[in-house]
Amino acid sequence: MVSSETIIERLREQGIRLTIQRQLVIEVLCQHNDHLLIQDVQQFLLQKGVDLNETTVYRILQWLKNLGIVSQTDLGQSGVAYQLMGEEPHHHLVCLSCGKIITVDNSLFLPLSNTLRTQFGFEPRIDHMAIFGLCSVCQQQDDSAPLSS
Ligand SMILES: [Zn+2]
Ligand SMILES: [Zn+2]
Repeated sequence: MVSSETIIERLREQGIRLTIQRQLVIEVLCQHNDHLLIQDVQQFLLQKGVDLNETTVYRILQWLKNLGIVSQTDLGQSGVAYQLMGEEPHHHLVCLSCGKIITVDNSLFLPLSNTLRTQFGFEPRIDHMAIFGLCSVCQQQDDSAPLSS
C-alpha cells in the first residue's frame, strides 16, 4: 500500500503544487482504500475537521484522476466510485436490475488492451472498469424485459 507521504513526495518532485486541501484528499484516499463516493470523501474530511463542498472535492478528484493517481468508475445504482490506483487494477460487472457488483480480475482485459495497441496504436488506461449487464439470477427472473428496472 502506498502512503500519502509517498504520493505527496512524488508529486512535489514533479514540481506539482499541493494545497492543504489536495493533501488532505490524498490522505483520505490512502486511509480508506476502497470505493469512495464524493460524499464519503466529504464525510472523512469532516472527521478531520475540514469542510469542503462537493464541487471542490470533485475538482480535486478529477485532478488526481488526470495524474493517474485515482480511478473513477461509474457503478450505476451505487454511484460514481473513486479509488486510489492499486498495484494491480480490478474491474466490475454491474447488474442493471438488482445492482449486484461482481469484481473481476485485470487479466480478463489484457487481450483487449493488446488488441487496442496493435490494431489502433492506442495505449489504453483501463484503471477500474464497470461493465453493465444482467447477472445470472436476474436473467432467469426477467426474461421478457431484460433492461427495464
Ligand atoms: Zn472496484
Ligand atoms: Zn442482478
